[in-house]
Amino acid sequence: MKELELKHVYKDYKLANKEKYTALTDINISFDKGELVSIIGESGSGKSTLMNLIGGLDSDYQGIINIGGKDLKNFKDKQLDDYRKKKIGFVFQSFNLIPHLSVLDNVTIPLTLSNIKESEKNEKATNLLTKLGLKEHIKKKPTQLSGGQKQRVAIARALINDPDIILADEPTGALDSSTTSQILNILKEIADDGKLVIMVTHSDKVAQISSRVVEISDGKIVRDEKRENYIKNTEKHLIETAKENTKNKKEGHLSFFSALKLSIHNMWASKTKNFLMAFGVSISLIAMIIMLSFGSGLTGYISALAEDYSNPNYVTISKSGKDRDGNPIEDNAASMFLPKMFEESEISEITNDLNSQLEQQNNDFRIISDGDDINITYGFSMMTMMSGNISYDPKSGNLDDIKTESIMYTYTTPPYYDENNLITKTGHISGENEIMLSSAVLKLIDVEDPEEVIGKKVTLNIDFKLSDTTLSIKKDVSISAIVDVSAFASMMVMYVDYDYLNDCVKEAQSNASISPTGLKPSLLFIHTDSEETTDFLNNYISNNRKDLSGSIEEQLSSMFSEMMSTFSIALAIISGISLIVALIMITVVLYMSVSERTREIGVLKSIGARKKDIRLIFSTESLLVGVLSGLTGIIFSLIIGGLLALVLKSLIGFAPISMLWYYFVGALVISVLISVLAGLYPSSKAAKLDPVESLRHE
Ligand code: ADP
Ligand code: MG
Repeated sequence: MKELELKHVYKDYKLANKEKYTALTDINISFDKGELVSIIGESGSGKSTLMNLIGGLDSDYQGIINIGGKDLKNFKDKQLDDYRKKKIGFVFQSFNLIPHLSVLDNVTIPLTLSNIKESEKNEKATNLLTKLGLKEHIKKKPTQLSGGQKQRVAIARALINDPDIILADEPTGALDSSTTSQILNILKEIADDGKLVIMVTHSDKVAQISSRVVEISDGKIVRDEKRENYIKNTEKHLIETAKENTKNKKEGHLSFFSALKLSIHNMWASKTKNFLMAFGVSISLIAMIIMLSFGSGLTGYISALAEDYSNPNYVTISKSGKDRDGNPIEDNAASMFLPKMFEESEISEITNDLNSQLEQQNNDFRIISDGDDINITYGFSMMTMMSGNISYDPKSGNLDDIKTESIMYTYTTPPYYDENNLITKTGHISGENEIMLSSAVLKLIDVEDPEEVIGKKVTLNIDFKLSDTTLSIKKDVSISAIVDVSAFASMMVMYVDYDYLNDCVKEAQSNASISPTGLKPSLLFIHTDSEETTDFLNNYISNNRKDLSGSIEEQLSSMFSEMMSTFSIALAIISGISLIVALIMITVVLYMSVSERTREIGVLKSIGARKKDIRLIFSTESLLVGVLSGLTGIIFSLIIGGLLALVLKSLIGFAPISMLWYYFVGALVISVLISVLAGLYPSSKAAKLDPVESLRHE
């Protein structure tokens, strides 16, 4: 039985417009083991076409190709892959080594595709490379080798699986004459060891050393000549080396680990491109992590603020600026900053409503606004951030730096404030001719020890813009304490006693010849008998009295949660868009990488890589891109978040950034998911590439 036999083989290339070009016509030829066959013929005569058919790279032909008695036509994909991997060794004119792999890794690639143990395949390849005189070069990259060395590496790769047939398509075409004879000697040795070597060559001189010369012209065999004076060398050399260890091995397929190794090599070879891509993808992750951290930081801050302030024994009521159905009362923008004050009639309406609700609930607690056991007290708060209508003139000591516009809030001290809210040990809650300041003011004037400012005299200038009149209060007061309530700690707040402020207003009214009616409250504090009563009243108000709201802190808190939900929608849209952009970007880059590596894919296929293997290599690479992008995103988020926290801390005294571990995990998972998704199309495109066309690819 012949090793290889072709019967009536025709090959047509399909051209456009349903035309075809017949590259091979009625080829009938057979080959034996141990032959060194030269195929000669002019360029375009069909030599490579023939080699591709024999090598199982091209299955689109008519006729019969018998390999060891089996018809190649009947081979399933898997058998064909196996045939290319084990039965055939390819050597090309342009070497076709994989540039980003070392010499050793290039030679072991066919074994890697069979999942042979690392140590074993390296030993085998090293032995083979040593025989081929490349021992010192195994760590080099292909570009660091001369042409002859490259071709020897390619021969080692072709031999590593101990194939029966070596197909060499113009193996010396790119070499000078002395290296040419080196390579020819090696090929002759291989044939002498009992392999069938079929070599395509242009040159008659090269053909001289062959045992047989076959000439093709216009797709037909025109000469087939055995050479009588061909001397066989019976010494065994290379093949013995290749045969070692190949017996009784359990064969697998390309493992994930090996694919990972290949991908890392390849990505490292174009590290700038890959890092830039990872960075591009990571930008959307960074934006996402930072925005989420900011959101949760603010929410946490605000809810801590509300919690800090809520005293379970007090119900705080203010006007919401809406009517009872929750519709906003027509208001101009400026009035947003005017205090919303209660008229006496409104206070009694609210008191009556709440008392009747309590009665219906059989709750014994009642709001009492007259007599000795009065349990409703008044408060007042005014935002002065925009109007700057409270001026605060320092008169002595270190307080020169307090600027008028720095005070954001004037607030009458709530009835439940006590020593626990003070950070000054010697201070006390302010009364007549006194004010307290929030600890943020200390930072403004660069005072570390709050005790330093106790007792300092300052001038209090309040311009009360109350709807149609403006009252000017000017008083000499002293600082009685520094208040530290975490929520307001970072805001510039001035605390004044309600009764004292009321007296000041009356005095100013008299000075302006207005009847001294005094201050109207903008806050009502109800001192309840229990937490249950507090909860009941708060619930009733928030569900049924849209015209009322709670304390300033509660208002801030609900305002923020509204802002946060808007923020979340915006965040979702932005991240969605940027992730789609990232997805497209990765797809494009991977797609380009596939076309850049078309030839490499062809080589891998010619040495028996299955579609699955190619897909695995490219998917692993997209997975790596995802991991790399995710890690880049995480590192940059940490850096940017940290810097942002530092800047905010020094600017506003606190940093509402809370980076939760699951944001990072989430970012990594998302980045891996989109990368893998982006890799699907390019990897399947790579897997489907036609090996012959890929090898032809320039
Ligand atoms: P050789 O290797 O002898 O130089 P080839 O086998 O590469 O020649 O090509 C034989 C003929 O087939 C040439 O005329 C070439 O143009 C043609 N040919 C090769 N590949 C294709 C293809 N994919 N489509 C159409 N024609 C092709
Ligand atoms: Mg050719």
